[in-house]
Amino acid sequence: MTAVAPLPKRPPSLLADASTRLDDALQYVDISEDALRRLKYPKASLSVSIPVRLDNGSLAVFQGYRVRYDDTRGPGKGGVRFHPSVTMDEVQSLAFWMTFKCALLNLPFGGAKGGIALNPKQLSRQELERLSRGYIDAIADFIGPDVDILAPDVYTNATIMGWMMDQYTIIKRQASPAVVTGKPLMLGGSQGRDTATATGAFYVIDALLPKLGRQPEQTTVAIQGFGNVGAALAERLAQQGYRVVAVSDSQGGIYAEQGLDIGQIRRHRAARQTLKAGYCTDTVCNLGEHETITNAELLALEVDILIPAALENQITAANAADVQAALIFEVANGPVTSAADRILEERGKLVFPDILVNAGGVTVSYFEWVQNRSGLYWTLAEVNERLQQRLIAEAEQTWAIASQRQVSLRTAAYIHALNRLGEALDAKGTRDYYANGAT
Ligand code: NAD
Repeated sequence: MTAVAPLPKRPPSLLADASTRLDDALQYVDISEDALRRLKYPKASLSVSIPVRLDNGSLAVFQGYRVRYDDTRGPGKGGVRFHPSVTMDEVQSLAFWMTFKCALLNLPFGGAKGGIALNPKQLSRQELERLSRGYIDAIADFIGPDVDILAPDVYTNATIMGWMMDQYTIIKRQASPAVVTGKPLMLGGSQGRDTATATGAFYVIDALLPKLGRQPEQTTVAIQGFGNVGAALAERLAQQGYRVVAVSDSQGGIYAEQGLDIGQIRRHRAARQTLKAGYCTDTVCNLGEHETITNAELLALEVDILIPAALENQITAANAADVQAALIFEVANGPVTSAADRILEERGKLVFPDILVNAGGVTVSYFEWVQNRSGLYWTLAEVNERLQQRLIAEAEQTWAIASQRQVSLRTAAYIHALNRLGEALDAKGTRDYYANGAT
């Protein structure tokens, strides 16, 4: 059993902070009042209690959520998070980001998200399975392959997605693989989904870096969060010649100026659960000198690229002035607050926004959904080729909008997504749309 990670400090409302990004982009977008008003509010928010019989015979009741923020462009799509800090506000914000991410990538989905407030590391595997199935029992009428599709997020994984899909199938009495993505391969998962977010982030970093006149070999990287995404991205970057000098998890981090051996750390962590606990008494120490650092120190390291890949609200007005990295690639959802954005911009730091950088996961989730529905499965090479094409095309467009409009990359990404969302909302009918005689 592991200690609960410290809860991130939040602004009064995460959703209110998230939607300031909309306001920043609005002046550059021709969007109707009606469409804008619709995008300010989540379409549907469900809060459920999930009773779970624990192994010791007692009953625990967990609080769960599912939010469909907007489904104008297609069924809701978004992950399920198991974490002690999950609240309705957090889930609504994550669903908001999913709405813009799906529009930015031109996926035929709206935005959704779900979560359960708990520390999953305190449950046994059987308790976790009962909880996952109980969550589906509670939200089954709110989701579906054409309504709202689930996926993994923080502290959920392919095994949990398999249980959730199976429970939905039991309730509906028909095979429904497309209700959940990120499933095990044997239950209809897609090749490449487990590493898709990291692979996508790598494609974006590697495609945009030359625009800044940088080469991988001369680029140092620090990564906060060594989970599904952070660890896979660290390994990919290191394999491609980037010098990954620091990584961390909820317990703390490690630093080595000459670069870390990420493959060894991944194997070590898989065996030992945390980077720090027992780190320097184990074989990894034989690879070289490793300094232990705190997460706060990692965020302030003198590196070329900083990659927050843990949770939201990690770079705030309180520590944005400490950030030394010139480039920040947001792999986590919402790691930089809007106040921090302004400070970083004033200091000449470039922030590559979450809705672009971490969109590889939802893109391959879309591929999984397509494969489930067609019954035709693709090779890893096919998946990665399509992922690369789509992500690089949208990254290039976002870069071009930022250059043309002289706006931040985040505002550019929102302009691009808002244009698509606005058109879809208007096409469903607004006062202006009908007044102008559109048919
Ligand atoms: P994960 O649960 O596998 O890993 C999370 C990592 O963050 C772990 O290493 C954990 O120890 C660390 N962590 C937790 N609290 C921390 C803290 N206070 N300080 C530092 N580190 C901390 O989750 P993941 O799937 O890798 O997701 C990471 C981020 O990426 C999340 O913001 C998630 O929303 C986002 N994301 C994930 C996917 C996906 O496909 N999994 C897709 C898009 C975005």
